[in-house]
Order: sequence, then structure tokens, then C-alpha cells
Amino acid sequence: MNLKNKACFLDRDGVLIDEVNYLASPDKVSIIPHALKALSILKEYNYKIIVITNQSGVAKGYFTEKEITEIHAEIDRLLAQNNLSIDKYYYCPHHPEGKVEGYNINCDCRKPKPKLILQASDEFNINLKQSFLIGDKVSDLSAADKAGCQAVLVKTGHGMEHIEQARQLGFKVADNIEEAVIFYLQSKHLFVKKEAGR
Ligand SMILES: [Mg+2]
Ligand SMILES: [Zn+2]
Repeated sequence: MNLKNKACFLDRDGVLIDEVNYLASPDKVSIIPHALKALSILKEYNYKIIVITNQSGVAKGYFTEKEITEIHAEIDRLLAQNNLSIDKYYYCPHHPEGKVEGYNINCDCRKPKPKLILQASDEFNINLKQSFLIGDKVSDLSAADKAGCQAVLVKTGHGMEHIEQARQLGFKVADNIEEAVIFYLQSKHLFVKKEAGR
């Protein structure tokens, strides 16, 4: 009997919220409209919803970890209005070429490294083979691949720049987070009814 959880790992910027270069302030948070439907489907199918995000702006001195926490609180607030939530946010604040002492390291948690996915998988008792990631960059998909879960590229955020390479590597491309969730669940032979007019 399999008592492990399934998860959908989400990249944050360009997948869950609008891509803003080095988002530093909660008032610039804007949830991608398709994300609400995507999250409600994931909830319905009992997927843990876990954000895995590179935030090298900390290492580069554009914002602090405190501001990341505030941004995540704002995402939580907006999602809560729709009875939705994120199970946990994992972020990498590092970058080897950053200037902020302590953060300007060649870490082992920045995607495409799989460490944060593996850490989440331990903490939430996740079966990676029954889990997937949605990202807008090949580095997101590669991290998932290394962790042993499937991945789908979306065309939102930086997605358009990564389509060709993602396809060459054999990843599926979807228009947005909602289409990605529906595609993945249907590939698992789970029927997901699309709402008319969406
Ligand atoms: Mg992104
Ligand atoms: Zn890191």
C-alpha cells in the first residue's frame, strides 16, 4: 500500500505569479489568473502544492529574505481569498556572482540542482514518481528531472524563450499553469473536466 503523498512543485515567478524582474515588494504580487483554477484542481486531487524558487536577488543585494517572506505572505493572503493555499515555499537565496556576503556562494540548492525538491520530498513524505513540477525555464525542468519527477513547461513568464530546448529534451509544453495541471492529470488517466469558456 502506498501511503506517500503526491505533489505538484511550482516555480514561483512566471508560473504562479506574474514575472517581475527581481520582485522585491509584496504590492507587486499578482497571481496569474489560471493559477486559481490550477490550484483548486490540485487540491481536489490531493496534491501537495509546493513552491520551489530561485531568489538570487538576495545574493545580488536587490532584496532580503525578509522581503521574500513578505511576498509569500501576500501570495498566501491572495490565495486564501479563494480558499487556496501553498503547503510550503522553498527558496534559494544564493548566487555565485552575488555581492552579499554569505549568499554569494556556489550553493547546492539553486535550480537546476534538485536539492530543494528532495528536501520537500523528505519533509512531506512525497512519492516523486507520482509527482510533477511546472516551470517556465529549462533549469526548473532539469531540477525535477534530476529529482525523479516529471515536469511541464509553461509559456507564461520566460517560457517562450525555453520552448525549443524543453521540447528537444522531451518535456511537454502547456499554455499556462492550468493547462499544465490538466495535461499532467490526464496523462495519468485522471479525468479533469475543463470549464466551458476557459
Ligand atoms: Mg520562473
Ligand atoms: Zn542556494
